[in-house]
Parts: sequence; structure tokens; C-alpha cells
Amino acid sequence: MIIVIRPHTPPDKIEEVIREVSQLGYAPNPIRGDYQTVVAAIGDETTHASLESLTALPQVEKVLRVQKRYKLASREAKTAPTVVDASGVKIGGDEFVLMAGPCSVESADQLMQCARAVKAAGATVLRGGAYKPRTSPYEFQGLGAEGLRMLEEARQETGLRIITEVLSERDVDAVARVADILQIGARNCQNFQLLIACARSGKPVLLKRGMSMKIEEWLLAAEYILAHGNPKVILCERGIRTFETYTRNTLDLAAVAIAKQETHLPVVVDPSQGCGRADLVKALCRGAVAVGADGLLVEVHPNPAEALSDGQQQLDPSAFAEMVEGLRPLLSASSRHLATQR
Ligand code: PEP
Ligand code: MN
Repeated sequence: MIIVIRPHTPPDKIEEVIREVSQLGYAPNPIRGDYQTVVAAIGDETTHASLESLTALPQVEKVLRVQKRYKLASREAKTAPTVVDASGVKIGGDEFVLMAGPCSVESADQLMQCARAVKAAGATVLRGGAYKPRTSPYEFQGLGAEGLRMLEEARQETGLRIITEVLSERDVDAVARVADILQIGARNCQNFQLLIACARSGKPVLLKRGMSMKIEEWLLAAEYILAHGNPKVILCERGIRTFETYTRNTLDLAAVAIAKQETHLPVVVDPSQGCGRADLVKALCRGAVAVGADGLLVEVHPNPAEALSDGQQQLDPSAFAEMVEGLRPLLSASSRHLATQR
């Protein structure tokens, strides 16, 4: 870390900072300029106390971090990309993975119609929320355990793998019995007890970016799952809240490129929450491929106008199939192809 001391600080006050740095377990190396002194503190920032508290001293102007705060997730720790195996579906390799299905599981019939349609179009993973976080708690919150049973039936009939959200630590075991991938939603990305419980389940975990989360905070949350012994982490960009009103969220495709550069983890894009508009989903899916994402999580409903949640952003089956066909040439241009069901 670098501690920048204010100009014109008397020598005894500079010595005080140097003493504090040693006290906290770092080797202090003062660099004295005519005007200002900086102290380079040598030591592993991940195992020692942070020196950021030194800004409490009036003579300290600022403290700058040199090391990244996440290690296990970083490309420096592991250069080869991580390929997450979700019951045979591989996410993060050469294949591009399509995860699709309704925002919420609403009925056995709705889910099954959707599962057949997304499978026919090329998806290998079925999404569908049994437990739904909502913008307002007075809206439909999902069918819960009954929804999980419907997902299980859809898995049995179609062979599609299942991704579904877990909202609470209490439900991790029940959801993990059915799901091939546990989804941690934007509203829960920093619910650290839930992250620990999901890590311990041993299941692949798809970690959405929180809607007001910096990229670093998102990667630190991913790091926390890795640090709790679960290497099967998939990052998911789903848009952040900005001042823009044309879209529900602002899909941050730069964050996808950054996450791919900074980490070895697979990154997928959710264009549905990402913009909240069905008419933009196709374009954003193309953008996701172009920017190097490893897959998509797309909301598809047999009849979006009757959806119990997020109807405005769900594709109908034919729009989904058309979108997938449009991706094929883009994928082959980057020497990739759609994952197929095994
Ligand atoms: C969803 O996938 O339907 C959902 C609620 O996602 P998010 O957590 O990104 O809002
Ligand atoms: Mn949704």
C-alpha cells in the first residue's frame, strides 16, 4: 500500500506514520520528496490488516491499494479459464450455453410448454424462479416448493438442466436437490450468509451482479464463494441501475469484458433483466456474444402478455428461436458454437 502524507508535515508526524505501518505488520519504505513524503508499505494486503484506517491520522492525505482485493478469482492466481460442469453442461469452454425459460414458474403446463420450446430452439439449461424476489413484496413471489417439483418434472421429461434462484439460506438444501445450478439474485449478491450456504452445497453457483454493485464488489462476492471451498462459480451481468429511463436497467457489457479479463470464471449475460424490454433482447444477446460472454440467461414465456412476473421483457418461443438462429453466424465467426444436449 502507498500512504501519501500531506505536504509540510513535520518530521515527527511522518515518523508517527512510519511507526504505525510497522505496528500493523508492514515494512515501511519512506520516499522523501522536497515537498511531500510517501510511505510504501510492503506486505501482503490479503493477510494483514488494511492500512486504509491510517487516513484517520490528520497528516495522512490518502492510502492507495496496490494489490487486488480478490485473489482466488483472479487471472493471476489461475490463467486457464475455469469450465464449470453443471451435470454435464460445460460453461466457460468453447461452447456457448443457452439458459432460458420463464421468469417465474407459474404452472406445470406453462413450464412444460416453455421447456419444450427452449429445448427445440437450442437451450440446454431451463431457467425458472420458484422463489421470486420482487421489486414490490406485494407482487407474485413464486410457487415455492410446488414450483421446484414442476422444475424437477421438466428436467425428467426434457433432460434440460435446471437453474433456479435460492432466496434464503433456509431453502438451499431443497433447491439444491432439484437445481443443477443455484442462482443468487441481484438483491442477494452481498448476502454473505447465503453465499456461504450456497458454496457449501457444492453445486455450481451463478452469481448475479447486484444492481448497484461495483465490478470489484461483485468479484469480491465471487471470491467469497471460492474461499468457502466451491470453485464452480459463474458470474452473471444483469444490468445496473442508472439515471436512464428508456430501459429498466443499463446492461453493462464492459463489465463482462472486464470480468473475463480480470478473472478465470465463466461470465454469462442476462439481457432480460438487463434492459427490461423484449424488443431489445435480441440485440443485447448479439452484443453479449461479441463481447466474449460464455452464455446467456434469457426469459422466455409461452404467452408473455399473461406472465405473472416480468411480462414486458420475456420473449415468446418464436422470438427466442429467431434470436438463437441469429447468434449462430456470430458464434462461428469467433470459432465457437452452441452447446448441444448430451
Ligand atoms: C430473475 O432472474 O428473474 C431475477 C429476479 O433476476 P435478478 O436477481 O437479476 O433481478
Ligand atoms: Mn425476471
